[in-house]
Amino acid sequence: MTPQWMPLNVNPPMTFEVVKYGHPVLRQKGARIEKVTPEIQALAAAMLETMRVNKGVGLAAQQIGQALQLTVVDLRGVTDPERPSSLKLDGKDADVAAIMPLVLINPVVSTAGEPASAPEGCLSFPEIYADIPRPTQAEVRATDEKGRAIQFSCGGFLARVIQHEHDHLNGILFIDRMSRDTKDELKPKLEELLSATKAALKTEKSPSIKKP
Ligand SMILES: [Zn+2]
Repeated sequence: MTPQWMPLNVNPPMTFEVVKYGHPVLRQKGARIEKVTPEIQALAAAMLETMRVNKGVGLAAQQIGQALQLTVVDLRGVTDPERPSSLKLDGKDADVAAIMPLVLINPVVSTAGEPASAPEGCLSFPEIYADIPRPTQAEVRATDEKGRAIQFSCGGFLARVIQHEHDHLNGILFIDRMSRDTKDELKPKLEELLSATKAALKTEKSPSIKKP
């Protein structure tokens, strides 16, 4: 699929409406980005701004209506001592803030460690939170917004956020990783959100959403 670019090269960066659960783009696998063009850089900047105004810690391209292998993460606002993160660069312990904000293009993520459960939310699922089991460690290889190859290993909350975002790039949502009981409990809320999104899709012509 050839992405249709909108005029994104604007300063300050524009923001997008975050796509909600029920929009088909959230189930699309992102296309690989072959070249980091000014349009991709502008898209990443707009995603960071969209994430910031929505007080998120991660955002995937699918969440602004673009099925691409592109995600952004920024944990600098996370001060909760119950959600610590660790980072290793070139095998040495490093400060997580040093790599923030993080733009990951075509990320390859491999995980290690026993799965642990912790609460997660998602900007595409407003006010829905659930415990999600995920491995505690992740090894990440990606391209950054300047087209440079980056590599690091991480643990804790950063590893969790990156796995959540990497899932989005493959059309996987956190509801897919919930226990059956949790999903049953959330069913009324999820169905309400789903029908609201479907209704909005029927009536709205959202400028941020590409129609196939
Ligand atoms: Zn999400």
